[in-house]
Amino acid sequence: MNPKDKKERRWLFEVALSVAHELRARRVGTSLLIRRPTRPYSTGTDGWGVVIGSLGKGRPGLEIWLDRFTRLPNRKFYATFYSRKEPAIRALAFRSKALWPVRKLTFDDLADSAIVKMKKKLHPKEFNEPVLENYRKNRRHFFGFYDGTTGLAEKAAQRFCQSAVAFFLDVANSLPASKAKIAKRQVDPQNEPKKWVKAHLGRERSRLLALACKRRDHYKCQVCDMTFSAIYGKDLGEEFAEAHHIKPLSRTPVNAKTKLDDLETVCSNCHRMLHCMDNDPSDVKRLRTLVRKFRK
Ligand SMILES: [Zn+2]
Ligand SMILES: [Zn+2]
Repeated sequence: MNPKDKKERRWLFEVALSVAHELRARRVGTSLLIRRPTRPYSTGTDGWGVVIGSLGKGRPGLEIWLDRFTRLPNRKFYATFYSRKEPAIRALAFRSKALWPVRKLTFDDLADSAIVKMKKKLHPKEFNEPVLENYRKNRRHFFGFYDGTTGLAEKAAQRFCQSAVAFFLDVANSLPASKAKIAKRQVDPQNEPKKWVKAHLGRERSRLLALACKRRDHYKCQVCDMTFSAIYGKDLGEEFAEAHHIKPLSRTPVNAKTKLDDLETVCSNCHRMLHCMDNDPSDVKRLRTLVRKFRK
């Protein structure tokens, strides 16, 4: 193995260690079993995979990969649930209301070559979004996401870790084992009908989507323009913010899927204020005007 490959394989292991460590600390209330990452194994996709845990004995496993499956010149990280049983993976992909597969892949999407890779490269929009892969011929089934982060290696790896933890927890939390715990954790902002709050917060609960929203807005409140790091300093405030769902739920079906465009980054104060308003898409804009008026 050439030195560059060796280095990347080592890097994969270290990233897998961080994801496992973070998940172990946050798995309470879910059925996630986290183990010490296995040695990286060759995946046949010009890269390697590492097993970091499972959803229980005989149930889908959790894996982190680094490979060229998506046909991009550099190897990309991939976080996925894996099983030999198709129904087990399909159940994961379709159970969660917060996450759903934006792309499905089957054998027809694979190129005919010694290295397993896609025929056409993955669209930029399909990175950081859940992908369902069912390869019936060899009974390999996956539900995961490809990391599209570019930039400095260290920072990129850190971002992937955050996304991977968010993804695994989103899926694990949508499984029945943890339902009771989720209900308990529910915040209940004042003066709001319970049912509405529950549905609304459910939509804001996807960690993966919320992360994507906050990164898109650079963690800046879209109402008052504040960033937590400007007030509380980098150590405490960096990459802190909340995601708010802007669509009126009364006019959308209960199981409508949340899109990134439905979320806005807000600070905790503005978020509370928004939840005291009319539950209308214009709330963000109206609150913004209000803040500007009273600031003068
Ligand atoms: Zn704000
Ligand atoms: Zn909200």
